[in-house]
Amino acid sequence: MQQLAGGDLGFVPTMGAFHEGHMQLMREAREHHSVAAVSLFVNPLQFGPNEDLANYPRDEARDFRLADEAGIDIMFAPTVDEIYPHAGTTIKVPDLTTRWEAEIRPGHYDGVATVVAKLFNIVRPRTAYFGWKDLQQCLVIKRMVEDLNMPVMLGFVDTVREDDGLAMSSRNAYLSPEERCKAPQLSRTISRVASEKGSAQALAEARKSLEGDGFLVDYLAAVNAGTLQPLNPQDREGAIIVAARLGKTRLIDNMRFALG
Ligand code: AMP
Repeated sequence: MQQLAGGDLGFVPTMGAFHEGHMQLMREAREHHSVAAVSLFVNPLQFGPNEDLANYPRDEARDFRLADEAGIDIMFAPTVDEIYPHAGTTIKVPDLTTRWEAEIRPGHYDGVATVVAKLFNIVRPRTAYFGWKDLQQCLVIKRMVEDLNMPVMLGFVDTVREDDGLAMSSRNAYLSPEERCKAPQLSRTISRVASEKGSAQALAEARKSLEGDGFLVDYLAAVNAGTLQPLNPQDREGAIIVAARLGKTRLIDNMRFALG
């Protein structure tokens, strides 16, 4: 495949089904670069065998329209065969992919790192933009770029939330009306734990209250925001990270906070 562009290009990799979180990343790319590009690719490599690849929300026509309205110059929506003409080389970022999302979704970050590396090589962006909503993903990509000396800068954008605090996500579309009412509990809870600097007591109470409200908690932890290791008193920045299932929908969120 040919390279798309070069020069002062800002790039936003996505899996489509756009919401305000995606739009915020696009605005960053538009504002800071002479050329702004978005990729739309539901990457099979990052989905496990029992995950929602087949049901992942897709609305390419709407996505193209929204990207156009946001002033995006290049929309790149390759097919699976174009990206993966043969299965083979993959990228693994071992340090950051033993716990949390990686533990629940084995192979997920190999899929993410591999497709992002391929997209970087095709698009050749000066800067690529990612959302802090996926904290572990941000750290994996940052480490990949450092370890492989990739000539790209990274921009990270704060999580965009609904008015009631729910982190925007394409997967929120799976929530039933009752689940949608409950879902903001997740961000309220981690915000409370963050205000307690991730104390063991706050974490235990939070887990109990989420489980009492019908969430199945995959993990809820206080970690170093840069390494995802358990939080130490001497750390400068912490994060409360959570993944929980509400019915069929898996929600993830995080809240970063300063220490000291
Ligand atoms: P996705 O289409 O889910 O792969 O997301 C594409 C990009 O948008 C990733 O960098 C995500 O971290 C980012 N993103 C997703 N949800 C949000 C949000 N609520 N706020 C900010 N960025 C987000």
